Amino acid sequence: MMRAKIVCLDRNDPDEEQIKEAGEIILKGGLVAFPTETVYGLGGNALDPEASNKIYTAKGRPSDNPLIVHIASWEDLDKIVKEIPKKAHILGEKCWPGPLTMIFNKKDIVPKETTGGLDTVAVRFPSHPVARKLILASGGYIAAPSANISGRPSPTKAEHVIEDLANRIDMIIDSGETDIGLESTIVDFTSENPVILRPGFYSEEDIREIIGDIEVDRALIKNDSRVKPKAPGMKYRHYAPKGDLTVVEGERGEVIDEINRLIKEHSKQGQKTAVLCSDETKDRYMGAEVISLGSLLKEDEIAHHLFDVLRTLDSRKVEVIYSEAFYTQKIGEAIMNRLLKAAGHKVIDLKNKR
Ligand code: AMP
Ligand code: MG
Repeated sequence: MMRAKIVCLDRNDPDEEQIKEAGEIILKGGLVAFPTETVYGLGGNALDPEASNKIYTAKGRPSDNPLIVHIASWEDLDKIVKEIPKKAHILGEKCWPGPLTMIFNKKDIVPKETTGGLDTVAVRFPSHPVARKLILASGGYIAAPSANISGRPSPTKAEHVIEDLANRIDMIIDSGETDIGLESTIVDFTSENPVILRPGFYSEEDIREIIGDIEVDRALIKNDSRVKPKAPGMKYRHYAPKGDLTVVEGERGEVIDEINRLIKEHSKQGQKTAVLCSDETKDRYMGAEVISLGSLLKEDEIAHHLFDVLRTLDSRKVEVIYSEAFYTQKIGEAIMNRLLKAAGHKVIDLKNKR
């Protein structure tokens, strides 16, 4: 039997009574999944260690993987962080409310259970109207990782949350599909120079334009298991479909030929295969389930569809998956970060094969 109460809320005009009810669940130590502009979050009171513990248990998340604290006003930031560096202020002024997470040194009021044992805290001020209202109704601080079972693709629809967590949490707020579909960009302001720990909707270039020089965590650039990522969560396998996913990179025509050849081989062995591609290439594949993420000219669409498509592959019981690469202009970095993680960094690189 489903335990969570499912509540549908209009994203621009949510019912005040139901927001209040959801806020009370969180204030009492319960868990509510809610929409944000990036993905659905699994929310609990960030200042309550027990609530954070419940989040880890519900998700099956390793307890060293810290949670992001969501706020809904600048004033609330001062209460949980020791200092706000000038550049963080400048970046926040431009990107908050929105898909940006910043890491600061935390004050004692934030329990270590929320920060995975760290002395730093990740904070985001989301723009989604339902998220903002819920945060205010919940006392101002909601710890919320993505509302999926650990390791599965992040949820971009309430249906995804229901699939993973309906029996494990108290309420799920359904406001339709999320806008962006990829998690926030994370920037760490606790070392000498700001560092990007996770790419997202805001690209390295966007951030450089706003605050000048910025570093990128080496673990993001180089796929080397000896380089430990600074965001604890980035070291875990993530988003992986049940089928065996490989990314094929190279010149477009060659990629298509190689994937078609591989499909034929797998079909001979009776394996169910799928191809992830774009509107521009979808008619050029044969003998497999062909799934387009959207047009390469609309990278927002590709980002928006990625996690949903990864889940669809599971429901269709696909065994072998080949994906094109999507190094699109602005959010390509973030799309490829998630896709390569989903593939466990399995890549056929045709450029370097020749
Ligand atoms: P999720 O909540 O699933 O979007 O994941 C949150 C991400 O933020 C994970 O990769 C965490 O490791 C990272 N993160 C959260 N808090 C911190 C922190 N204090 N320092 C570094 N990374 C953090
Ligand atoms: Mg997550």
